[in-house]
Amino acid sequence: MFPGVSEVLAKLKRAGARLIVVTNQSGIARGFLSREALDAVHMKLKRLLLDSAGVTLDAIYFCPHHPDDGCECRKPNRGMIDRAVRECGVNLDRSYLIGDHLRDIELAKRVGARSILVTTGVVLPRDAEQLNASGPTPDRIASSLAEAADWLLSDAGRLSVQVRERHVAYP
Ligand SMILES: [Zn+2]
Repeated sequence: MFPGVSEVLAKLKRAGARLIVVTNQSGIARGFLSREALDAVHMKLKRLLLDSAGVTLDAIYFCPHHPDDGCECRKPNRGMIDRAVRECGVNLDRSYLIGDHLRDIELAKRVGARSILVTTGVVLPRDAEQLNASGPTPDRIASSLAEAADWLLSDAGRLSVQVRERHVAYP
């Protein structure tokens, strides 16, 4: 894990967020990752988060399929998000998808969630600047998960004020 990740997730939890992981794991279909090995990775992730910051993930969803399988769950398809809505009662109007890949941003657009692109993985900061011209645009670009969470919390705070104001205006 990147340094500071568990603390950031703990902060989001304290603010009332639920944390759901959605991850493409085509290594299973490609035969270089077993389901047991992936389970072990997820167990270790949960253990690290719990031990270092007392954080519990609410769910982990993964797509084990190959890109050519045409499944509904491989991001940017929406299958894993639909499951989160069904099984965890996720409200997409109040959800944020934080990801390091353009697939994540495209998925957020498809399901009507806000999106934050973190430039710690496959998309480099200088590429992120070109996004407007070339593809799905995130609501925010952040250089770290900490920066993503700070923006998320201020955005969520602003939204809940707007909701309250609407209720006052149209009771
Ligand atoms: Zn799948």
